[in-house]
Amino acid sequence: MGIPKPSLDDIQRDVAAEREVRVSAVAELPTRFGHFQVVAFHAPDESKEHAALVKGDITDMADVPVRLHSECLTGDVFTSFRCDCRQQLELAMETVQKMPAGAILYLRQEGRGIGFENKIRAYQLQEQGYDTNQANEALGFKADERDYDVAAQMLRALKVKSVRLMSNNPDKARDLQAHGIEVTGRIPVQVPPNPHNALYLETKRVKSGHMIDEVPKSVVGEQLDCLHRTSNAQPRNVSA
Ligand SMILES: [Zn+2]
Repeated sequence: MGIPKPSLDDIQRDVAAEREVRVSAVAELPTRFGHFQVVAFHAPDESKEHAALVKGDITDMADVPVRLHSECLTGDVFTSFRCDCRQQLELAMETVQKMPAGAILYLRQEGRGIGFENKIRAYQLQEQGYDTNQANEALGFKADERDYDVAAQMLRALKVKSVRLMSNNPDKARDLQAHGIEVTGRIPVQVPPNPHNALYLETKRVKSGHMIDEVPKSVVGEQLDCLHRTSNAQPRNVSA
């Protein structure tokens, strides 16, 4: 059961001529959170190699719980407190394990799509008083450059009929639907704030419309005052 594994012939076949995103290989993956299948995708037009973790039978299924997780080297690997990515990923893995079936797509779009180098540039700007959106914009990017076209193609390759999106971000559902995937519901993924990511979470809530609880003032203190002061204004000056 689970995701049907491609035959050896399929794996060895020359795929140079193929244009469609397809399931390239599937293997078993025991993790701290339970047993998944890990799926590698062949995506001809992508320089990045995307992945999925799958629990149970999702082929030809409707209302499949799905998390679209964008790669975050600093959070997922280095356990950074500057964002909530790792906690959201772990919560998604835990949540999927509690359900009969579900999937986490791991999309290689670091730093909301601007790449690792620019993400660290943005962090440096944040240390000078910019919030997470202002920093991306100061570097010439939109606040969010992510694109869920490849996610939609991956879901089609997995033959998922419709999804319940594990997300706080309404843009993700809209974007996925615009790419032809039916979204039948939403499962909130909320992690507790900490003093390092409180401003980041409040920025996502206030400016990007994420459906998460307001961060309590006790957690963020003056960081929050700063956000509300600079919400529609220039970044504050911070003397070094
Ligand atoms: Zn992150």
